[in-house]
Amino acid sequence: MIYRGRFAPSPTGPLHFGSLVTAVASYLEARAAGGQWLVRVEDLDTPRVVPGSADQILSTLEDFGFEWAGPVLYQSTRNAAYESAIARLLSSGQAFPCSCSRSEIEAAQSHVRLPGEDAHYPGWCRNGVREPNRALAIRFRVEEEAVEFEDRIQGQVSIDLTTEGGDFVIRRRDGLIAYQLAVVVDDHDQGISHVVRGVDLLNSTPRQLVLQRALGFEHLEYAHVPLVIDRNKMKLSKSAGAGALDLQRPTHDLWRALRFLRQSPPLELRLSGLSTLWEWAIQNWQVHSLRGLREACEEML
Ligand code: GLU
Repeated sequence: MIYRGRFAPSPTGPLHFGSLVTAVASYLEARAAGGQWLVRVEDLDTPRVVPGSADQILSTLEDFGFEWAGPVLYQSTRNAAYESAIARLLSSGQAFPCSCSRSEIEAAQSHVRLPGEDAHYPGWCRNGVREPNRALAIRFRVEEEAVEFEDRIQGQVSIDLTTEGGDFVIRRRDGLIAYQLAVVVDDHDQGISHVVRGVDLLNSTPRQLVLQRALGFEHLEYAHVPLVIDRNKMKLSKSAGAGALDLQRPTHDLWRALRFLRQSPPLELRLSGLSTLWEWAIQNWQVHSLRGLREACEEML
């Protein structure tokens, strides 16, 4: 099987230690398998995009010695592909228009939600739009079933989407294409076979699997890398200023990333050149060392 992996940063700020760890893991999985590695800039969520940060991320990846195949794909150029996938899902009845606003849905929730947890969609527009004159979102219709997959790091995962959020948005009411839909269309069009990304996206994978099935695409293989957290158990990217990379000493940060990824890089390689360290890392890459690990605090290793 041809291995094609990818790294898909959102340009919402500079590359930090947490995203470096994900990039390193996905790169090493691809390189150790003799495969290709692509880069895609996920610049769809325009309100969150920080101007200049896509170029900054790409130049940081270059400084770290990453080599990617082909041109970088920008999601902002891909609207026609997303719209044609949505049109197919609408015409097959696997997606439907929905007029419900987020605040209406949230107000109808009886239980207290955890931070970051989406409100459960009560299915109000499933059998016909309630308020056709309003701006409409498009939702994907989920079936009552356990969506299962074997994650190469996290092991067996099983999620029933009807109890985990319900029918999910693929195009928002303001017209923005949702992450789930864009990723599935892009991964397919770019011929991606393996996805290696942060474990914070583990719950997105069942949504992407059902979308792949509905669109007649091949299923991909997944590996979700543990999150780097700080001493307060916060995801690194969320804690202000944390995880900044030292671009003067990329070998040092790459060595730290390898150590975080449980690869036991020899101490002396900390002072070696970048290419020597990459060579060692590709030859010695063991994804199994991460088995079952969800998160870890880098400073405490
Ligand atoms: N753009 C997402 C992020 O930066 C990653 C999406 C993915 O790898 O599927 O967190």
